[in-house]
Amino acid sequence: MHQYIGGQRREASSGETFDVLDPSTNETLETVTLAGHDDVDAAVAAASDAFEQWSRATPAERSTVLLKAAQLLDERAEELAQLESRQAGKPIRLAREFDVPGTVDNTTFFGAAARRLDGMASAEYSGDHTSSIRREPIGVVGSIAPWNYPLQMAAWKILPAIAAGNTIVLKPAEITPLTSLPFAEAFTEAGAPPGVVNVVTGSGPVAGAHLVGHPDVDMTSFTGSTAVGRQVMATAAATGKRVHLELGGKAPFVVFDDADLEAAVHGAVAASLINTGQDCTAATRAIVHRSLHDEFVRGVADLMAAVRMGPTADEATDLGPLSSAAHQTKVAGMVERARGYATVVTGGRTPDGDLARGCYYEPTLLTDVPLDSEIWRDEVFGPVLAVVAFDDDDEAIALANDTPFGLAASAWSRDTYRTARATREIKAGCVWINDHIPIISEMPHGGYRHSGFGKDMSAYSFDEYTNVKHVMHDVTAVAH
Ligand code: NAD
Repeated sequence: MHQYIGGQRREASSGETFDVLDPSTNETLETVTLAGHDDVDAAVAAASDAFEQWSRATPAERSTVLLKAAQLLDERAEELAQLESRQAGKPIRLAREFDVPGTVDNTTFFGAAARRLDGMASAEYSGDHTSSIRREPIGVVGSIAPWNYPLQMAAWKILPAIAAGNTIVLKPAEITPLTSLPFAEAFTEAGAPPGVVNVVTGSGPVAGAHLVGHPDVDMTSFTGSTAVGRQVMATAAATGKRVHLELGGKAPFVVFDDADLEAAVHGAVAASLINTGQDCTAATRAIVHRSLHDEFVRGVADLMAAVRMGPTADEATDLGPLSSAAHQTKVAGMVERARGYATVVTGGRTPDGDLARGCYYEPTLLTDVPLDSEIWRDEVFGPVLAVVAFDDDDEAIALANDTPFGLAASAWSRDTYRTARATREIKAGCVWINDHIPIISEMPHGGYRHSGFGKDMSAYSFDEYTNVKHVMHDVTAVAH
């Protein structure tokens, strides 16, 4: 596979390549061009060249391109789902029912939203002046994406940027670059000038860091870990560019004593195992009222044991592998260390037999977890749920907030006063009530605190990808 620069597929200037593996077998899927500094420079130059024309296109013209691209992507849905499933180790059902339709929907949403670059102006404030607002694109955006939802992350980065008239260079994660190229090509095919969307396939420390520090890149948008997000922010600071960061999470899942326990048990299993737990909003810390704790643990353990882990191409598979052998080692290591201080109720092993070839890891439930332990505090990013009991509502909210992260949370209760309190007091960018995980193109996604700042999706994302210009008019000028 090549990179995509100025509307053309290109080899890396160094001629270097790397192998993308299928994590369900650890076999090579495809050999990919390894971009270096020259390739990033070429992509940034292509994006700079395209900016003048694209930024001057009318919102209606940009909208037409995005809506046409959505149609092309929809026509290629099965092909994209197969590729996404193989490179990221997703059960084919998840890729077909979630990743690809979510991407098409997001593309359609931003196709429509491109025509709503709203500005709020106080038109009446004095006798001799009035105001209007312009929303102007920022310029060339350099985006860096993670490996957990390769196609959706490419969409979240590219769509609001180009809908608002920016041009973009995307660097997907090195282990999952395969769907970002056909995604980018759909926009050129739909009528975007070459260079509006570019993709460089390279490593984080080389291609990624060069893109972030590039003087001709006007904005960096990054989704990934909090540790790398900090490095990105430091590199970007030297150039003074705008930064948008979507980082890690450690979502609490709070079950009050009046909750529908069966719904909470099903919700906890679905929300902790989604995408094999490799989801920044996945439920990781179940905070459960002591009166329900034991029944909750039994219910979750039973359901986890029934989850069908299997080959990603199998329609019946619920749970695929982790994304790489390195990540499997990390998850297994965290659970192994937790055995020394917590109880592993179910899971905690890599499977035997055919699945041993891949990066699989069993759904894992832990109890008796100390509040200062690694498994409770750090992001595992695997199919691992830890449970802690609480006695009163104050303690539940305090436990939910006892984390430096603040991406997402859920509260389970039938009492609207309780859920209203939870939504007000939990410090996170999203709080679900009696649910955990759904996201929707119309609504914003983004973190508080160490989970980053700025919003993906929804019209709020235009706040990241536009400059707001105040235009003040002297309405007495005609009379002078
Ligand atoms: P990561 O931070 O290791 O890598 C993310 C991207 O950064 C990759 O493309 C990588 O190549 C690049 N990179 C690495 N070093 C770099 C550097 N020095 N300069 C520039 N780029 C560099 O993250 P990951 O392991 O790919 O993804 C998992 C993480 O992403 C988790 O922490 C997860 O919570 C987070 N995530 C957050 C969201 C969100 O919306 N908040 C969504 C998905 C994933």
